[in-house]
Amino acid sequence: MASPQNIAVIGAGIGGLTAALALLKRGLDVDVYEQSNELREVGAGIQISSNGTRVLYALGLKAALERVQVLPSRRQIRHWSTGETWNWFELGATTAKRYGTPHVMLHRGDLHGLLADAVRRLKPDAIKLGRRCIAISQSAGHAEARFEGGETVQAAYIIGADGIHSKVRACLFGADRPEFTGCVAWRGLVPMERLPARISQMLGTNWLGPSGHVLHYPVRRGELMNFISFVERDDWQIESWVTAGTNSELANDYRGWHEDVHTIIRHIEVPYKWAMMVRGPMPRWSEGRVTLLGDACHPTLPFLGQGGVMAIEDGYVLAACLNKHFDEPDRALERYEDIRRERTAAVVRKAHENRQQAFSPELADKDAVAVSVARHWQQVRVKERLDWLYDYDATAVEI
Ligand SMILES: Cc1cc2nc3c(=O)[nH]c(=O)nc-3n(C[C@H](O)[C@H](O)[C@H](O)COP(=O)(O)OP(=O)(O)OC[C@H]3O[C@@H](n4cnc5c(N)ncnc54)[C@H](O)[C@@H]3O)c2cc1C
Repeated sequence: MASPQNIAVIGAGIGGLTAALALLKRGLDVDVYEQSNELREVGAGIQISSNGTRVLYALGLKAALERVQVLPSRRQIRHWSTGETWNWFELGATTAKRYGTPHVMLHRGDLHGLLADAVRRLKPDAIKLGRRCIAISQSAGHAEARFEGGETVQAAYIIGADGIHSKVRACLFGADRPEFTGCVAWRGLVPMERLPARISQMLGTNWLGPSGHVLHYPVRRGELMNFISFVERDDWQIESWVTAGTNSELANDYRGWHEDVHTIIRHIEVPYKWAMMVRGPMPRWSEGRVTLLGDACHPTLPFLGQGGVMAIEDGYVLAACLNKHFDEPDRALERYEDIRRERTAAVVRKAHENRQQAFSPELADKDAVAVSVARHWQQVRVKERLDWLYDYDATAVEI
């Protein structure tokens, strides 16, 4: 029997769909197997920095993004209890000019939807729903995925893009041992018309405080405000995109914070909570004809806003490697890992370090936030910290 020539992607998240689109654009045959019965993303926002939009533009998604994105003018910082405000850094035209492509704020469902549409335009039946992968095996000529219910598929390559609790990773390398950070993240959306004008601005706001951090920014053409916050808490240790909490539990986590924070919290439709875990870097992501991308191999704390962007970069680079070295699995996947391992490990490390600046007990002092803004959050320092991230061009790396 001839060896299969197709590629199976497990997981239709942001990373899996980007990989599928990049592979289809290069003329390779792909199917995406998603456990959910319905293709949808959680109700929450995501920021895609210039290094991510560079890839999405290269995949032909500029016009689709422009239909749903918010191009914020700038970021600002506010004091957790007094509400004092500092300008932080310019975004909008400044970022687009500096890095070539913009920094955009999106509803995750919109990003997910435009990626899925683009995949289906190239291959209408590429995305197969209701397929939960439960096992992976392989022989010299092919890899095989087994799904709940008994169905199996064979492919020349299998890409595990199945997120933080990756089954493909577990099949390849065994169970992982995440460590709880002692922090819980809250997420939620508010219809913009419910917020007063002083809050409903087209910019991103970070609130600095002693035992928590709040961030809000507009998404979906400015129709919704996305709320994310982090708080020190050790009574909740489940990583989940879909566990709902209550508005009063969330409000309780921010007792004593400024009224504007509570105004947003009161109007959140459903607040979701997520316990933040860290995992050490993996020495390898691939075995034979099976590899991993995105959160499946380098889950990243959200303090740098880069986990999704790394999955997008991975997808693009992996497609280029498979295209160039399709008949040499060892070479294709070795090259992919060589290109991506160090960068993603640096992002995981930096995101973890940023946790220290996001909040600390000293910020309870009246003047400490101003000192922290001067020390860590000036535009020039931020540029120094972020240029290496945003300048990177995944579409131009040599394969
Ligand atoms: C609070 C918070 C805020 C964040 N903000 C940002 C941000 O602003 N910018 C940014 O870039 N990143 C951000 N991130 C990180 C980002 O959300 C993730 O890094 C990104 O979603 C990873 O994408 P992925 O495709 O690898 O995995 P996922 O998005 O988790 O997708 C995995 C997919 O695989 C499917 N799947 C799982 N198991 C199976 C199985 N066994 N069989 C079949 N299918 C399966 C799932 O249903 C899902 O569709 C944030 C994260 C958090 C928690």
